Amino acid sequence: MNFSGFNFCESDKKSLSALDNHGRIPHAIIIERRDKEKSAQAAKFLSMYAVCTAESNKPCASCIQCRKAKSKSHPDISYAYPEKKSKTYSIDQIRDIIKDAYIRPNEAQAKVYVFEEADNRLTAVAQNSFLKLLEEPPQNVHFILLCENAQKLLVTILSRCTVVRLKNEVRLDSVAVENAEKIAQGIISSREYDLLLALNALTDKEKADDVLTAVRLILRDALAVSVGSEADFSEALGKSLASRFTKGRIIKMLELTEDAAIKIKQNVNINLLTAWLCGEYRRISWQR
Ligand SMILES: [Zn+2]
Repeated sequence: MNFSGFNFCESDKKSLSALDNHGRIPHAIIIERRDKEKSAQAAKFLSMYAVCTAESNKPCASCIQCRKAKSKSHPDISYAYPEKKSKTYSIDQIRDIIKDAYIRPNEAQAKVYVFEEADNRLTAVAQNSFLKLLEEPPQNVHFILLCENAQKLLVTILSRCTVVRLKNEVRLDSVAVENAEKIAQGIISSREYDLLLALNALTDKEKADDVLTAVRLILRDALAVSVGSEADFSEALGKSLASRFTKGRIIKMLELTEDAAIKIKQNVNINLLTAWLCGEYRRISWQR
């Protein structure tokens, strides 16, 4: 699976990769997660995967099918929303979807139906009317049910779906995460300039807090790796930091980053702060 362009943590990538069976994904998938935006992202990713025409490393994000899926304009990918004023899907809506599922796709090799907030919007009656379809699904039709709590669905539905539980980690801006990764690489680099340049990202005050939170998550991963447990935010950077620095130094870097996050909220001069932070990271990294 090709995750570029998507901001999933390592653990979510693993969970999603597990769905891939020789280029195919299951007919019925439940994605469980508190964060609606993240689960919507997973639904988009999987629907792109289902329609992508690339031979391997799907979704390619560049074929016409992928692009339509990404912009939510693909005729074979439906997002089911309750009718006006209703909080749940009407039984007529469900019947229409079931009928539609037996009609061949228009453009792609597959059809996808996404149900957001399925645990709230699918009534027991609606779920029951779905059962037969889930038992004997038409070829190349995929149902993606997004849930906060999959246990709220009927057991009969649950048992026919592949359930993916995504991590409920802090939601961070994707640019901020990239900048945090550059800072981590800067800490590893032998050139002071690399780190100073990366720390420039903190001048964007709106994102500075997210950047520092992401740096902390990366350092926590490094700490986890150094004590033999698993990283869950950025495995690669966690590993390279852990191979470079002792546990004690990583803890000091973590404390320093927490300090910096507090200082940024106190309206300090940002240029002074980045210079100080750069000096401190390097002191911790390279002192004998
Ligand atoms: Zn594609």
